[in-house]
Amino acid sequence: MKILLIIAGLCALGFSARWNWWRLPKKGVAILMYHKIGTPPRDSRLRKLWVSPRKFEQQMNYLRKKSIPVISFAEYYQMLQEKRVPEKAVIITFDDGYQDNYSEAFPVLKKYGFKAMFFLVSDTIGIINKWHDPATEPHQKMLSLEQIREMQAAGMEFGSHTLSHLNLNALNIEAANIQITKSKPVLEEVLGKPVDIFAYPYGAGAYNPRVKQLVKPAGYKLAVGIKQAINMRDQEDLFALKRITVRGDENMFDFYLQITRGKNRL
Ligand SMILES: [Zn+2]
Repeated sequence: MKILLIIAGLCALGFSARWNWWRLPKKGVAILMYHKIGTPPRDSRLRKLWVSPRKFEQQMNYLRKKSIPVISFAEYYQMLQEKRVPEKAVIITFDDGYQDNYSEAFPVLKKYGFKAMFFLVSDTIGIINKWHDPATEPHQKMLSLEQIREMQAAGMEFGSHTLSHLNLNALNIEAANIQITKSKPVLEEVLGKPVDIFAYPYGAGAYNPRVKQLVKPAGYKLAVGIKQAINMRDQEDLFALKRITVRGDENMFDFYLQITRGKNRL
């Protein structure tokens, strides 16, 4: 009997470590970070960055069913300016600009009437992503100009994810500055409107003052990093906003914990 109780106790501890239900819910804006929507290729070593189309739809459906407001970055910026950030809202973001964002995510977003932000790597538009080692993660097709324009016409937002997806912490200051500043006019030319939001590749630079100080003078209004948390209403660093990674191997309970607590695991 004693043994059974010990086993049950250990199971409960294990469950609570893997799924942090005991954290208190947090008020603020949860910025979700997706990469690829689809089935990972067999030789992918970055499978967690692939969310299946079925799961993505379930997640969007959950936001709708629970009436959780999905806001755009333009709306969020306005709310920050006016100091009326909501107690509960979600922003949907996609990093890198993969073509599957158009083929798999865009139809679902349209179906639910949700806007999302897509962070583009300006040198790779219409071609493939070249920054992964193809031995560990096959190169993927990136959004084309036509696809970007179609998505924009349907209300989607686009931000900068640099020129070529280098690790900004590994560059000298001039090279980092070029990556941050030069992608902006290229994208503005494509979109025909200002590009106000920046995302640091790998989150690198968001926590490095030497790099982070380059972003505001480049003309961006906000920037996102990859620290896992909900953005509380009044205390955020607007050039290192927190995001929540939605991993392909997580279930709906994880998703619920993420958007209510900002974290689902230790
Ligand atoms: Zn990226």
